[in-house]
Amino acid sequence: MIDCPYCGERVEINHDDGQGYAEDQTHQQDCPECEKTFVFTTSISFHYNASKADCLNGSEHTYKITNTCPKEFSRMCCTQCGHERNLTEQERILYKIGTKESYFEKLKTL
Ligand SMILES: [Zn+2]
Ligand SMILES: [Zn+2]
Repeated sequence: MIDCPYCGERVEINHDDGQGYAEDQTHQQDCPECEKTFVFTTSISFHYNASKADCLNGSEHTYKITNTCPKEFSRMCCTQCGHERNLTEQERILYKIGTKESYFEKLKTL
């Protein structure tokens, strides 16, 4: 969305012809409200958000269970670094989740 410089109307950018994505190019746009033509340029900016990852500096990973369906395919994902691993036997019991094998067994009996 872009604000029309003439009337201030919020205008949907027309990307139909693949325009409007390239950086440092001037594009034309018609305002449907006041029917004036204006130009705009695109500037693409990247945002980097840094956060601490203690687990990459000698601390434990802080694993959290993923929301996977079927739940037998759940993994443990580190909230800090995004590392994934399979559930341990203890975690399967804790979260009441069977193994993948038990899931396939269940399918067979359906
Ligand atoms: Zn306008
Ligand atoms: Zn981690």
